[in-house]
Amino acid sequence: MKFEKRIRQAQLGKTDLVAMLNATGEERTLLFRESARIKEAHVGRKVYFRGLIEFSNICSKDCYYCGIRKSNKTVARYNLSDEEILRAATYAHEQNYGSVVIQGGEIASPAFTLRIENLLKQIKQLSGNSLGITLSLGEQSPETYERWRDAGAHRYLLRIETSDRELYKKIHPEDAHHDFDKRYECLRTLQELGYQAGTGVMIGLPFQTTEHLADDLLFMQSFDVDMVGMGPYIEHHDTPLYAFRNELLPIGERFDLALKMIAALRILMKDINIAAATALQAIDPLGREKAVKIGANVIMPNVTPGLFRNDYALYENKPCTDENPDDCKNCLDARIQLADGEIGYGEWGDSVHYARRMERTRQL
Ligand code: SAH
Ligand code: SF4
Repeated sequence: MKFEKRIRQAQLGKTDLVAMLNATGEERTLLFRESARIKEAHVGRKVYFRGLIEFSNICSKDCYYCGIRKSNKTVARYNLSDEEILRAATYAHEQNYGSVVIQGGEIASPAFTLRIENLLKQIKQLSGNSLGITLSLGEQSPETYERWRDAGAHRYLLRIETSDRELYKKIHPEDAHHDFDKRYECLRTLQELGYQAGTGVMIGLPFQTTEHLADDLLFMQSFDVDMVGMGPYIEHHDTPLYAFRNELLPIGERFDLALKMIAALRILMKDINIAAATALQAIDPLGREKAVKIGANVIMPNVTPGLFRNDYALYENKPCTDENPDDCKNCLDARIQLADGEIGYGEWGDSVHYARRMERTRQL
Protein backbone atom coordinates (compact mmCIF):
# COMPACT_ATOMS: atom_id res chain seq x y z
CA MET A 1 0.00 0.00 0.00
CA LYS A 2 1.21 3.52 -0.71
CA PHE A 3 2.56 5.23 2.39
CA GLU A 4 0.28 8.25 2.08
CA LYS A 5 -2.82 6.06 1.93
CA ARG A 6 -1.55 3.85 4.73
CA ILE A 7 -1.18 6.70 7.24
CA ARG A 8 -4.65 8.03 6.41
CA GLN A 9 -6.49 4.79 7.14
CA ALA A 10 -9.25 4.93 9.73
CA GLN A 11 -7.96 1.85 11.57
CA LEU A 12 -4.21 1.83 12.08
CA GLY A 13 -2.55 -1.46 12.95
CA LYS A 14 0.89 -2.47 14.13
CA THR A 15 2.39 -2.78 10.65
CA ASP A 16 1.19 0.73 9.78
CA LEU A 17 2.77 2.13 12.94
CA VAL A 18 6.03 0.27 12.29
CA ALA A 19 6.06 1.75 8.78
CA MET A 20 5.66 5.23 10.28
CA LEU A 21 8.50 4.68 12.72
CA ASN A 22 10.75 3.42 9.94
CA ALA A 23 9.86 6.25 7.54
CA THR A 24 12.75 8.07 5.89
CA GLY A 25 13.10 10.66 3.11
CA GLU A 26 9.84 11.51 1.34
CA GLU A 27 7.79 9.21 3.61
CA ARG A 28 9.14 10.93 6.71
CA THR A 29 8.12 14.29 5.25
CA LEU A 30 4.63 12.95 4.50
CA LEU A 31 4.34 11.58 8.05
CA PHE A 32 5.21 14.91 9.66
CA ARG A 33 2.93 16.83 7.30
CA GLU A 34 0.01 14.56 8.14
CA SER A 35 0.61 14.70 11.92
CA ALA A 36 0.87 18.52 11.81
CA ARG A 37 -2.38 18.67 9.85
CA ILE A 38 -4.19 16.42 12.32
CA LYS A 39 -2.87 18.37 15.26
CA GLU A 40 -4.18 21.64 13.91
CA ALA A 41 -7.56 20.13 12.97
CA HIS A 42 -8.18 18.39 16.31
CA VAL A 43 -6.44 20.36 19.05
CA GLY A 44 -5.54 23.60 17.26
CA ARG A 45 -2.29 25.54 17.31
CA LYS A 46 -2.22 26.38 20.99
CA VAL A 47 0.63 25.20 23.16
CA TYR A 48 0.01 25.02 26.89
CA PHE A 49 2.71 25.64 29.47
CA ARG A 50 3.09 23.70 32.68
CA GLY A 51 5.72 25.12 35.04
CA LEU A 52 7.80 22.13 36.10
CA ILE A 53 8.84 21.97 39.77
CA GLU A 54 11.37 19.19 40.36
CA PHE A 55 10.98 19.38 44.07
CA SER A 56 13.17 16.50 45.28
CA ASN A 57 15.66 13.99 43.89
CA ILE A 58 15.29 11.63 46.83
CA CYS A 59 13.94 8.34 45.50
CA SER A 60 13.20 4.95 47.03
CA LYS A 61 13.50 3.16 43.68
CA ASP A 62 16.37 1.88 41.64
CA CYS A 63 15.35 2.03 37.97
CA TYR A 64 18.40 0.95 35.94
CA TYR A 65 18.23 3.94 33.58
CA CYS A 66 17.80 6.84 36.00
CA GLY A 67 20.56 9.09 37.32
CA ILE A 68 18.82 9.78 40.63
CA ARG A 69 18.18 6.12 41.46
CA LYS A 70 18.56 5.21 45.10
CA SER A 71 21.86 3.37 44.69
CA ASN A 72 23.64 6.26 42.98
CA LYS A 73 25.78 7.50 45.83
CA THR A 74 27.36 10.29 43.82
CA VAL A 75 24.19 12.42 43.74
CA ALA A 76 23.80 15.34 46.17
CA ARG A 77 20.27 14.78 47.41
CA TYR A 78 17.94 17.75 47.92
CA ASN A 79 14.39 18.33 48.99
CA LEU A 80 12.96 21.80 48.41
CA SER A 81 11.30 23.42 51.39
CA ASP A 82 7.57 24.11 51.24
CA GLU A 83 8.38 27.81 50.87
CA GLU A 84 10.61 27.16 47.87
CA ILE A 85 7.93 25.04 46.21
CA LEU A 86 5.28 27.67 46.82
CA ARG A 87 7.60 30.36 45.49
CA ALA A 88 8.16 28.35 42.31
CA ALA A 89 4.39 27.90 41.94
CA THR A 90 3.87 31.63 42.48
CA TYR A 91 6.48 32.32 39.82
CA ALA A 92 4.65 30.05 37.34
CA HIS A 93 1.37 31.78 38.21
CA GLU A 94 2.91 35.22 37.69
CA GLN A 95 4.26 34.11 34.34
CA ASN A 96 0.66 33.17 33.47
CA TYR A 97 1.62 29.57 32.75
CA GLY A 98 -1.82 28.22 33.70
CA SER A 99 -0.55 25.02 35.36
CA VAL A 100 2.31 23.50 37.29
CA VAL A 101 3.71 19.98 37.37
CA ILE A 102 5.07 18.72 40.66
CA GLN A 103 7.57 15.98 39.98
CA GLY A 104 10.11 14.14 42.08
CA GLY A 105 11.57 10.85 43.19
CA GLU A 106 9.14 8.24 44.45
CA ILE A 107 8.46 8.21 48.18
CA ALA A 108 5.46 6.50 49.74
CA SER A 109 4.79 7.37 53.38
CA PRO A 110 1.98 8.91 55.42
CA ALA A 111 4.10 12.01 56.07
CA PHE A 112 4.79 12.44 52.35
CA THR A 113 1.11 12.04 51.47
CA LEU A 114 0.21 14.72 54.00
CA ARG A 115 2.94 17.08 52.87
CA ILE A 116 1.81 16.96 49.24
CA GLU A 117 -1.82 17.27 50.27
CA ASN A 118 -1.04 20.49 52.18
CA LEU A 119 1.08 21.86 49.34
CA LEU A 120 -1.72 21.22 46.84
CA LYS A 121 -4.17 23.17 48.98
CA GLN A 122 -1.72 26.04 49.37
CA ILE A 123 -0.98 26.22 45.64
CA LYS A 124 -4.69 26.35 44.93
CA GLN A 125 -5.04 29.10 47.51
CA LEU A 126 -2.13 31.26 46.38
CA SER A 127 -3.47 31.27 42.82
CA GLY A 128 -7.12 31.90 43.73
CA ASN A 129 -7.87 28.37 42.49
CA SER A 130 -6.63 29.26 39.04
CA LEU A 131 -3.45 27.16 38.67
CA GLY A 132 -4.00 23.69 37.27
CA ILE A 133 -1.88 21.02 38.97
CA THR A 134 -0.34 17.88 37.52
CA LEU A 135 1.43 15.43 39.80
CA SER A 136 4.20 13.05 38.81
CA LEU A 137 5.17 11.30 42.02
CA GLY A 138 5.20 7.67 41.02
CA GLU A 139 3.27 4.73 42.41
CA GLN A 140 1.06 5.43 45.40
CA SER A 141 -1.92 3.79 47.10
CA PRO A 142 -5.44 4.48 45.80
CA GLU A 143 -6.17 6.35 49.06
CA THR A 144 -3.21 8.66 48.51
CA TYR A 145 -4.21 9.36 44.92
CA GLU A 146 -7.71 10.08 46.16
CA ARG A 147 -6.55 12.51 48.85
CA TRP A 148 -4.35 14.36 46.40
CA ARG A 149 -7.21 14.58 43.91
CA ASP A 150 -9.48 16.00 46.61
CA ALA A 151 -6.80 18.53 47.54
CA GLY A 152 -6.67 19.91 43.99
CA ALA A 153 -4.57 17.74 41.65
CA HIS A 154 -6.41 16.93 38.45
CA ARG A 155 -3.77 15.39 36.22
CA TYR A 156 -1.20 12.67 36.93
CA LEU A 157 1.75 11.53 34.86
CA LEU A 158 2.93 7.98 35.34
CA ARG A 159 4.95 6.64 32.47
CA ILE A 160 4.63 2.93 31.85
CA GLU A 161 8.23 3.30 30.50
CA THR A 162 7.63 0.35 28.15
CA SER A 163 4.49 -1.70 27.61
CA ASP A 164 6.54 -4.85 27.04
CA ARG A 165 6.81 -6.92 30.21
CA GLU A 166 10.09 -8.56 29.23
CA LEU A 167 11.73 -5.26 28.38
CA TYR A 168 10.34 -3.76 31.59
CA LYS A 169 12.10 -6.50 33.54
CA LYS A 170 15.38 -5.79 31.80
CA ILE A 171 15.40 -2.11 32.76
CA HIS A 172 14.26 -2.51 36.37
CA PRO A 173 15.41 -4.62 39.32
CA GLU A 174 13.30 -7.75 39.71
CA ASP A 175 11.51 -7.09 42.96
CA ALA A 176 8.10 -6.07 44.25
CA HIS A 177 9.01 -2.36 44.06
CA HIS A 178 9.56 -2.47 40.34
CA ASP A 179 6.61 -4.51 39.17
CA PHE A 180 4.97 -3.95 35.80
CA ASP A 181 1.53 -5.03 37.04
CA LYS A 182 1.69 -2.64 39.97
CA ARG A 183 2.52 0.27 37.67
CA TYR A 184 -0.30 -0.71 35.32
CA GLU A 185 -2.75 -0.93 38.23
CA CYS A 186 -1.73 2.52 39.47
CA LEU A 187 -2.40 3.99 36.06
CA ARG A 188 -5.82 2.34 35.95
CA THR A 189 -6.63 3.60 39.45
CA LEU A 190 -5.73 7.15 38.43
CA GLN A 191 -8.04 6.92 35.46
CA GLU A 192 -10.87 5.49 37.55
CA LEU A 193 -10.46 8.23 40.15
CA GLY A 194 -11.19 10.81 37.47
CA TYR A 195 -7.69 12.16 36.95
CA GLN A 196 -6.56 13.08 33.48
CA ALA A 197 -4.24 10.13 33.28
CA GLY A 198 -0.98 10.51 31.40
CA THR A 199 1.61 7.94 30.53
CA GLY A 200 4.61 7.58 28.26
CA VAL A 201 7.67 5.58 27.35
CA MET A 202 11.36 6.08 26.79
CA ILE A 203 12.45 5.83 23.18
CA GLY A 204 15.71 4.22 22.11
CA LEU A 205 16.28 2.04 25.17
CA PRO A 206 18.76 -0.80 24.92
CA PHE A 207 17.03 -4.03 23.74
CA GLN A 208 14.07 -2.01 22.39
CA THR A 209 12.82 -2.61 18.84
CA THR A 210 10.53 -0.64 16.53
CA GLU A 211 7.92 -3.35 17.15
CA HIS A 212 8.07 -2.65 20.89
CA LEU A 213 7.46 1.03 20.19
CA ALA A 214 4.52 0.31 17.87
CA ASP A 215 3.05 -1.83 20.66
CA ASP A 216 3.60 1.05 23.08
CA LEU A 217 1.46 3.27 20.85
CA LEU A 218 -1.27 0.63 20.67
CA PHE A 219 -1.07 0.28 24.45
CA MET A 220 -1.72 4.01 24.87
CA GLN A 221 -4.67 3.74 22.52
CA SER A 222 -6.24 0.71 24.17
CA PHE A 223 -5.69 2.17 27.64
CA ASP A 224 -7.44 5.32 26.40
CA VAL A 225 -4.97 7.73 28.01
CA ASP A 226 -5.67 11.46 28.02
CA MET A 227 -2.11 12.65 27.76
CA VAL A 228 1.32 11.37 26.90
CA GLY A 229 4.82 12.58 27.64
CA MET A 230 7.51 10.55 25.94
CA GLY A 231 11.04 11.27 24.96
CA PRO A 232 14.37 9.75 24.04
CA TYR A 233 16.28 7.62 26.50
CA ILE A 234 19.57 9.33 27.34
CA GLU A 235 22.26 7.27 29.03
CA HIS A 236 23.65 8.32 32.40
CA HIS A 237 27.15 7.17 33.38
CA ASP A 238 26.22 6.30 36.97
CA THR A 239 23.52 3.78 36.06
CA PRO A 240 23.57 0.03 35.26
CA LEU A 241 22.16 0.56 31.73
CA TYR A 242 25.25 2.59 30.86
CA ALA A 243 26.99 -0.74 30.24
CA PHE A 244 24.86 -1.09 27.08
CA ARG A 245 25.68 2.35 25.65
CA ASN A 246 27.41 0.85 22.63
CA GLU A 247 24.23 -0.95 21.60
CA LEU A 248 22.12 2.21 21.39
CA LEU A 249 21.00 4.03 18.29
CA PRO A 250 23.17 7.11 17.69
CA ILE A 251 21.73 10.03 19.64
CA GLY A 252 20.53 11.87 16.52
CA GLU A 253 18.59 8.81 15.37
CA ARG A 254 17.07 8.39 18.82
CA PHE A 255 15.90 11.98 18.62
CA ASP A 256 14.38 11.43 15.20
CA LEU A 257 12.67 8.26 16.35
CA ALA A 258 11.14 10.20 19.25
CA LEU A 259 9.74 12.75 16.79
CA LYS A 260 8.27 9.93 14.68
CA MET A 261 6.70 8.41 17.80
CA ILE A 262 5.02 11.74 18.56
CA ALA A 263 3.82 12.09 14.97
CA ALA A 264 2.47 8.52 14.86
CA LEU A 265 0.72 8.98 18.21
CA ARG A 266 -0.91 12.22 17.04
CA ILE A 267 -2.27 10.38 14.00
CA LEU A 268 -3.46 7.49 16.18
CA MET A 269 -4.94 9.51 19.08
CA LYS A 270 -5.98 12.79 17.54
CA ASP A 271 -7.36 14.71 20.50
CA ILE A 272 -5.02 13.88 23.39
CA ASN A 273 -2.45 16.20 24.95
CA ILE A 274 1.11 15.35 23.97
CA ALA A 275 3.99 16.91 25.87
CA ALA A 276 7.29 17.77 24.23
CA ALA A 277 9.64 16.05 26.69
CA THR A 278 12.56 17.96 28.17
CA ALA A 279 14.87 15.14 27.07
CA LEU A 280 14.32 16.31 23.47
CA GLN A 281 15.85 19.64 24.39
CA ALA A 282 18.83 17.91 25.97
CA ILE A 283 19.73 16.54 22.53
CA ASP A 284 18.73 19.51 20.37
CA PRO A 285 18.27 23.05 21.76
CA LEU A 286 15.20 23.39 19.53
CA GLY A 287 14.02 19.84 20.21
CA ARG A 288 10.77 20.69 21.95
CA GLU A 289 9.79 23.21 19.30
CA LYS A 290 10.39 20.60 16.61
CA ALA A 291 8.03 18.31 18.51
CA VAL A 292 5.41 21.07 18.71
CA LYS A 293 5.58 21.52 14.97
CA ILE A 294 4.73 17.89 14.27
CA GLY A 295 2.22 17.05 16.97
CA ALA A 296 2.99 18.02 20.58
CA ASN A 297 0.87 20.69 22.30
CA VAL A 298 2.27 20.90 25.85
CA ILE A 299 5.62 22.23 27.06
CA MET A 300 6.90 22.11 30.62
CA PRO A 301 9.27 25.02 31.24
CA ASN A 302 11.41 24.35 34.27
CA VAL A 303 10.62 26.66 37.20
CA THR A 304 12.70 24.80 39.79
CA PRO A 305 15.01 27.26 41.58
CA GLY A 306 18.29 27.30 39.60
CA LEU A 307 20.41 26.17 42.51
CA PHE A 308 18.90 22.70 42.59
CA ARG A 309 18.55 21.92 38.92
CA ASN A 310 21.98 20.41 38.48
CA ASP A 311 21.13 17.77 41.06
CA TYR A 312 17.95 16.61 39.30
CA ALA A 313 19.93 14.84 36.61
CA LEU A 314 17.83 11.88 35.45
CA TYR A 315 20.08 11.76 32.40
CA GLU A 316 23.09 13.65 31.09
CA ASN A 317 23.12 17.11 29.47
CA LYS A 318 19.91 18.25 31.03
CA PRO A 319 19.26 21.72 29.56
CA CYS A 320 19.03 25.02 31.43
CA THR A 321 20.35 23.50 34.63
CA ASP A 322 22.65 26.39 35.46
CA GLU A 323 20.24 29.12 34.51
CA ASN A 324 17.36 30.97 36.06
CA PRO A 325 13.81 30.09 35.11
CA ASP A 326 13.50 33.51 33.45
CA ASP A 327 16.05 32.57 30.83
CA CYS A 328 13.90 29.69 29.74
CA LYS A 329 10.76 31.76 29.49
CA ASN A 330 12.12 34.55 27.34
CA CYS A 331 13.53 32.24 24.72
CA LEU A 332 10.46 30.01 24.75
CA ASP A 333 8.04 32.75 23.68
CA ALA A 334 9.84 33.43 20.44
CA ARG A 335 10.58 29.81 19.69
CA ILE A 336 6.96 28.62 19.97
CA GLN A 337 5.99 31.18 17.38
CA LEU A 338 8.67 29.83 15.09
CA ALA A 339 7.11 26.39 15.51
CA ASP A 340 3.73 27.66 14.18
CA GLY A 341 2.28 27.63 17.67
CA GLU A 342 0.62 30.17 19.91
CA ILE A 343 0.84 30.04 23.68
CA GLY A 344 -2.34 29.40 25.67
CA TYR A 345 -1.33 31.75 28.48
CA GLY A 346 -3.34 31.43 31.67
CA GLU A 347 -5.28 28.41 30.39
CA TRP A 348 -5.37 24.95 31.87
CA GLY A 349 -5.33 23.43 28.43
CA ASP A 350 -7.04 20.24 29.53
CA SER A 351 -7.02 17.31 27.18
CA VAL A 352 -9.91 17.41 24.70
CA HIS A 353 -9.86 13.63 24.85
CA TYR A 354 -10.53 13.72 28.59
CA ALA A 355 -13.58 15.96 28.16
CA ARG A 356 -14.99 13.56 25.56
CA ARG A 357 -14.21 10.52 27.71
CA MET A 358 -16.03 12.07 30.67
CA GLU A 359 -18.99 12.97 28.46
CA ARG A 360 -19.22 9.35 27.29
CA THR A 361 -19.07 8.11 30.90
CA ARG A 362 -21.91 10.47 31.89
CA GLN A 363 -24.08 9.12 29.09
CA LEU A 364 -23.63 5.50 30.19
N1 SAH B 1 9.81 9.21 39.99
C1 SAH B 1 8.71 9.51 39.13
C2 SAH B 1 8.86 10.82 38.39
C3 SAH B 1 10.25 11.30 38.09
S1 SAH B 1 11.10 10.38 36.85
C4 SAH B 1 8.51 8.37 38.14
O1 SAH B 1 9.44 7.62 37.89
O2 SAH B 1 7.39 8.26 37.63
C5 SAH B 1 10.27 10.95 35.39
C6 SAH B 1 10.61 10.20 34.13
O3 SAH B 1 11.96 10.44 33.76
C7 SAH B 1 10.51 8.71 34.21
O4 SAH B 1 9.20 8.27 34.06
C8 SAH B 1 11.43 8.26 33.05
O5 SAH B 1 10.67 7.93 31.91
C9 SAH B 1 12.29 9.51 32.77
N2 SAH B 1 13.73 9.16 32.81
C10 SAH B 1 14.43 8.65 33.84
N3 SAH B 1 15.69 8.38 33.45
C11 SAH B 1 15.79 8.72 32.14
C12 SAH B 1 16.83 8.67 31.18
N4 SAH B 1 18.05 8.18 31.47
N5 SAH B 1 16.58 9.11 29.93
C13 SAH B 1 15.37 9.60 29.61
N6 SAH B 1 14.34 9.66 30.47
C14 SAH B 1 14.54 9.22 31.73
FE1 SF4 C 1 13.08 7.16 40.95
FE2 SF4 C 1 11.48 7.90 38.90
FE3 SF4 C 1 14.18 7.76 38.64
FE4 SF4 C 1 12.79 5.50 38.86
S1 SF4 C 1 12.64 7.00 37.19
S2 SF4 C 1 14.69 5.97 39.95
S3 SF4 C 1 11.17 6.12 40.28
S4 SF4 C 1 13.03 9.15 39.94
